[in-house]
Amino acid sequence: MKTTKIPNEENRYWSDRKPIICPSCGEKAVRKSIYGYPSQEDFQNPNIHCVGCIPDLPWPRTWGCNNCDAAIWKDTPKMRYRYERFEL
Ligand SMILES: [Zn+2]
Repeated sequence: MKTTKIPNEENRYWSDRKPIICPSCGEKAVRKSIYGYPSQEDFQNPNIHCVGCIPDLPWPRTWGCNNCDAAIWKDTPKMRYRYERFEL
């Protein structure tokens, strides 16, 4: 597994696979992220990271840390393209 910090960003990382240990706080608290209002089932599921209704910019994170809220994106050329082309 390869995890790289995104330059000039706090608590944001690229990773080619789901990290077991959070690259930011070192806790085993990295979960798949979901957006918007979670279903009852998702809300009670400790294996999911609930981001809430405001998605990350420029693209929703792939995984999130339930301990420190680090955001981790799957490191693919497509995702990098989207990320780098984003302008406010
Ligand atoms: Zn963390």
